[in-house]
Parts: sequence; C-alpha cells; structure tokens
Amino acid sequence: MKLLLVEDDATLRAALRSALEQAGYVVDTAANGPDALHRGATESFDAVVLDLGLPLLDGLSVLKRWREDGRLMPVLVLTARDGWAEKVAGIDAGADDYLTKPFHTEELLARVRALIRRAQGLASPLLQHGPLTLDTRSSRVTCQGQPVVLTGHEFRLLAYLMHRPGQVVSRTELTEHLYAQDFDRDSNTIEVFVGRLRRKLPPGTIDTLRGLGYRLALPP
Ligand code: CA
Repeated sequence: MKLLLVEDDATLRAALRSALEQAGYVVDTAANGPDALHRGATESFDAVVLDLGLPLLDGLSVLKRWREDGRLMPVLVLTARDGWAEKVAGIDAGADDYLTKPFHTEELLARVRALIRRAQGLASPLLQHGPLTLDTRSSRVTCQGQPVVLTGHEFRLLAYLMHRPGQVVSRTELTEHLYAQDFDRDSNTIEVFVGRLRRKLPPGTIDTLRGLGYRLALPP
C-alpha cells in the first residue's frame, strides 16, 4: 500500500514517515501545498495523510482540487487543536476522517488502516483468504495458523492482493502501489517478488493471467 504524507513540519514528517514505513507502507512525502497537489493529482495512492496548515497552498484547497478533479483516494486530514471549524471544512471538502494534533501515532496508524480497508469495502482488520490470514494491525501473516515469514516487499505485495480478493491486478498497478517514487520501477521485479511470494504460500494461491496481471485465488 502506498501513502502520501503531506506535512510541512520536518520533524513530525520524519517521525510519521518512519512509523508508517515500519507498519509496512510505502510512503511518499510532500512538504507544501503545490507539491502535494501535483503528486495527488498524478500518482496513485491508497490513502493520504494531509496536514491542513501548509505553506504556499493550504491543505483544504489541495483537497478541494483533488475532489474536483475526481481523485477519490481516502484522505485523513490533520487539524490544529481546537480547530473544530477546520474539521467541518475538511469533511465538507471531501476528507474521509480527521485527527487533531497532537495525536498518538498508534491512533494515526489505526485510522489509516481503517480508511484503506473501507475503501475496499472490508470491515475487519483481519483479512482472510482460504487458509491465509493477514492481520493488518500487526502486519503478520499465517497459513492454517502457522506463521508465514515474509520480507517487506513480499508482505506489501500480499497485502495489496488480499485487499482486492478475486480482482485482477496488473503489474503496472502493483508497481505504482508497492514502490516509493524514487525507487527504480522495473515491472520485471514484480515478477521476481511474485515468484518468491508464491514459494511461501500454498500452491495455486496466486494466479497469473497472461497479459493482464495477477489474482489471488483459492488454492485447489
Ligand atoms: Ca502545518
């Protein structure tokens, strides 16, 4: 899952980025309004964390522009303390949730998980697929109750597929959602990671649809 984190306070941005990365997300960042606007308008993100008080262009205007342009990714806005009017304006502008500063990182992580889940119509933080269970809270995967040890890349790949059961996901889509912007995006690497992930899962869990992409299947 790829997130866009928009925060102008460098210390907070670094802390949140590190917490989100530790939770298994790929994180791109922006530190001002115009940069945020451009990234959100041109790249695919599974969710956005958007501070409202930003230099050059405020977060509310950024959000309004995204929604006017039909960008539908879930957005969590960060508002100042006592900023109730900001919260109302944020929700009216198309925010899906808000968090008031200062907040606990755990709460931010829980809200981001819920936003990503809901965007896919999933209600539980525990994703099940046949013998596989993925706990989005602990980033742990088990198969018939036995832990499956995955690398960060493998986990992100499986999490992306498990949020979209039965859907065909193209290699381009995976490349867009699994790597940060500065990463060398070679779609062949996806094939390599799929291969490695397959070897750790029951045979038949990941279908290849030639020319289309991959799909999580129920093992026979
Ligand atoms: Ca700010």
